[in-house]
Amino acid sequence: MDYYIAPLARLIEQFEKLPGIGRKSARRLAFHILGFSMEEAESFADAIISAKKLVKYCSICQNISDTDVCSVCSDEKRDKSVICVMESPKDVISLEKTGEYNGLYHVLHGAISPMDDISPEDIKIPELLSRIGSSVKEVIMATNPNIEGEATAMYISKLIKPLGIKVTRIAHGVPVGGDLEYADEITLSRAIQGRLEM
Ligand SMILES: [Zn+2]
Repeated sequence: MDYYIAPLARLIEQFEKLPGIGRKSARRLAFHILGFSMEEAESFADAIISAKKLVKYCSICQNISDTDVCSVCSDEKRDKSVICVMESPKDVISLEKTGEYNGLYHVLHGAISPMDDISPEDIKIPELLSRIGSSVKEVIMATNPNIEGEATAMYISKLIKPLGIKVTRIAHGVPVGGDLEYADEITLSRAIQGRLEM
């Protein structure tokens, strides 16, 4: 363990915090950083700090944004009568790439999971309920097609349907157990187009 001088050991430790990075990769990345010029190293560190400082949640849809209201929510051309509910900002990017969807979004930042002790209040469900007004005609549940995603879709559907709003679930063009993030654009646009009423 003490093969590494303290500043290098500290850098390796930081890389180990990243998902999918084990000790070996952390070491490789740390040594790569040591090869940076001072300017490159500063720019790298600054990108982390700036992203953390400047990226916030849109006050309406909770998607990541660098402004109080994101570019989708403030776009006059978007159909404000439809809200697509997704688990993560990465899912929104995937759907935006298809160019097939023109409504609004709501990002939950997770899914209900009793196993992991994640309850409805731990994700952005209260924020979703509070933004649903008379202008909303349909809410599309586009959570991931796995146990947590299905449970979350069911939970939200039970709360929203009594308000007289149409609630739909994306079609299972997306492989069951899969992540929307990895669904290709064609699969994802089919999943949206083939959505069924819950
Ligand atoms: Zn927004």
